[in-house]
Amino acid sequence: MERGVELYSGKAKSMHLTEDPGRLIMEFRDDTSAFDGEKIEQLDRKGMVNNLFNAFIMTKLENAGVNTHFDKLLSRTESIVRNLDMIPVECVVRNIATGSLCKRLGIEDGLNLEPPTFEFFLKDDARHDPMINDYHIESFGWATRDEVALMKRNTFQVNEILGAMFADAGMILVDFKLEFGRYDGNLVLGDEFTPDGCRVWDTETRKKLDKDRFRHGLGGVIEAYEEVALRLGVDLEIAAIQ
Ligand code: ADP
Ligand code: UDP
Repeated sequence: MERGVELYSGKAKSMHLTEDPGRLIMEFRDDTSAFDGEKIEQLDRKGMVNNLFNAFIMTKLENAGVNTHFDKLLSRTESIVRNLDMIPVECVVRNIATGSLCKRLGIEDGLNLEPPTFEFFLKDDARHDPMINDYHIESFGWATRDEVALMKRNTFQVNEILGAMFADAGMILVDFKLEFGRYDGNLVLGDEFTPDGCRVWDTETRKKLDKDRFRHGLGGVIEAYEEVALRLGVDLEIAAIQ
C-alpha cells in the first residue's frame, strides 16, 4: 500500500490517504508534545517504539473482542488503519488519581480509585481540551446517546483487559485516554494506545514509565517506553513487516 496525500498532520502522528478510501496510513513521528502543544521536542526512536507498541496493544484488544481500527503494520513507523469518522471527544479512565484530576478537584495524588472513574474531554487544543459531560456530547451533536454509552462501556472494557496485562508485567495502568470513531455505522476504537496517552507506574517502586517523564523533564523518556514494551512482550526488533 502506497502513501497518498497527507490528510492530517497532528502533534505526533500524520494520517495519509491510500488508494483504498476505507484505509489510511498512520505514521508515528518522533515529535513529542505536552501542555496542548506548548512543549514540543523530537525524541529519537519514539515513532518506531510507539508504532510497534500500538500494533501490539490493538491486536491484543481486537483478540479480546474490542472493535479497533488497526489493520496491520506497514513499516517500523507506519500502520494501516481503517479510515474513521472521528468523534471529537477523549475518553479517560483513571484507576489512580493524578494529573489534571488532582489539580482540578484537590484530590490527593496517588489515591486509589475504586471504582475507577471516567471523564470526557473535548478535543480542542485552543480551549485546552475542556472537560465535558454526556449531555454536552448529545446536545452539541458530537455523538449519539448510544455512542456515548458504548464509548464508556468499551473504555472500561479496555481498562479491564489492559489493567490485567500491565499488572502481570509488574506495572500499574494508572490512567489512559482513548478516541473512537465510526466505520460503516459502527463504533470503532481509533487513534493509539501508547505511553504517550496513558500513565504507567512500576508496581514496586511507582517509578513513572510514561509521558510524564517528558512533561516533567525527568529524562529517560524513550528508555522508559522501551522498558514498558519489553515487559509486555512487544517485539521491538521485528524484522518481518510485509
Ligand atoms: P492530535 O490531532 O491530537 O495532534 P495526533 O498527532 O495523534 O493528534 O494526530 C492523529 C489524528 O488522527 C487525531 O486527530 C486523531 O483523532 C485522528 N485519527 C486517529 N485514528 C484515526 C482513524 N482511524 N481515522 C481517521 N482519523 C484518525
Ligand atoms: N491524555 C492524553 N491526551 C490529552 C489529555 C490526556 O493522552 O490530550 C492522557 C494522559 O496521558 C493521561 C490521561 O489521559 O494518561 C489523563 O490525563 P490528565 O487529564 O490527567 O491530563 P494531564 O495531567 O496530562 O493534563
